[in-house]
Amino acid sequence: MKYKRVKGTRDILPDEWLIKDYIEGVVKETAYAFGYREITTPILEDTGLFIHSVGDSSDIVTKEMYTLQDKGGRDLVMIPEGTAGVCRAYLENKMTVWPKPVKLFYLQRLFRYERPQKGRYREFSQFGVECFGSKNPLADAEIISLANTILKNLKFDSLELHINSLGCPTCRKDYREALVTHFSENKQHLCEDCQDRLSKNPLRILDCKVRSCRPYIDDTPKMKDYLCEECKTHFNQVLELLASMDISFVVDDKLVRGLDYYSRTVFEIISKDLGAQGTVLGGGRYDGLIHRELDGPETPSMGFAMGIERITMLLQNKVEELDLRNPNPDIYISNFGGETAMLSLKIAQDLRQNGVKVWVDLESKGMKKVFDLAEKRKASYLLVLGEDELKTGKCSIRRLSDRTDFNVELQKISLFFDKE
Ligand code: ATP
Ligand code: MG
Repeated sequence: MKYKRVKGTRDILPDEWLIKDYIEGVVKETAYAFGYREITTPILEDTGLFIHSVGDSSDIVTKEMYTLQDKGGRDLVMIPEGTAGVCRAYLENKMTVWPKPVKLFYLQRLFRYERPQKGRYREFSQFGVECFGSKNPLADAEIISLANTILKNLKFDSLELHINSLGCPTCRKDYREALVTHFSENKQHLCEDCQDRLSKNPLRILDCKVRSCRPYIDDTPKMKDYLCEECKTHFNQVLELLASMDISFVVDDKLVRGLDYYSRTVFEIISKDLGAQGTVLGGGRYDGLIHRELDGPETPSMGFAMGIERITMLLQNKVEELDLRNPNPDIYISNFGGETAMLSLKIAQDLRQNGVKVWVDLESKGMKKVFDLAEKRKASYLLVLGEDELKTGKCSIRRLSDRTDFNVELQKISLFFDKE
């Protein structure tokens, strides 16, 4: 092999696509049921967009971005997450004048220069939603309900919803100070990244996965003790609404999320079946992003993103329970070349127009081989077209599951499949 896949990227083969197709169908259907509409934004965006939105202290911006300069000298990034581009598109396409809230969803390929491992790749896909223009706790609860409904519709069970409030810039300032005081005492024990985070974004220390940092994280001050009255009320209302919908949750004081733009509600849904890469979905409110970072109007907003590869991995264990597309042919048509080959293409064309899946033999094979091949292709029926069929206008269609033969007029094969 002269060339190989780029490290951390994957080829998605046909069997995986059956699951991906199914997931995409379910997520789209569910998103439409909640009033969301689809958007696709470019893979390439201005590097500055991410520095200003995701944040210049986030791992994504500092370590993980695929940046490049095009021939026109533009500094570009292959997008590492979906929200920033959708926010840019919201402003650029003047969706600000649409009736609020504006609800959008996307299926997007993303790129992050991370250490590849199971469930973590350098190119991956996400389904995500963004709801622009409501600060009501109902919006938070409805979005979480959408996430929950999607996973339920995908037939997931052992999942856990973790939720927290990061407060607003005012109350977070006090919390930040409390964290700095707390961690400064043990600064020398923290990993290098966390020592750096201490001055840039101490909240992110809570999210550190390095084992030696954990003991110092366990007894940190809690955001909930620093929330201002408004943020506290908002959070309690969200929790109350979730309970009223019978959505169970765990309030997780350590949940801060990896991106800088979040405020108030943040949440993650974790699968207990995926080990270290257990988070299948994460999101939160970003009330300040559009106004403060992107110069747009005041637009309280919220969203979440779900990792398609992790969902696919989990569903691979229960494909029998899923309503996957069946790629196998309904009928395998074999022929003996010449006029019989022409006829088989013509019959296939008519059948396909009627929604029947047809595999036509492109090389005429001997009779013996044909049965084998049709079975290998997992066809339901077999039709062998020879001179006799051509002459009489009649044929015999064999059901392969029980080897029953049906005599059918060539003109009426479509009708036969209508009845079957
Ligand atoms: P993690 O903590 O696992 O790194 P994250 O906080 O970076 O996740 P988000 O940016 O919130 O993840 O993305 C949402 C979802 O996208 C994650 O929950 C996960 O399912 C998926 N995801 C994130 N990074 C990757 C990756 N490198 N490869 C595959 N899926 C990913
Ligand atoms: Mg990450």
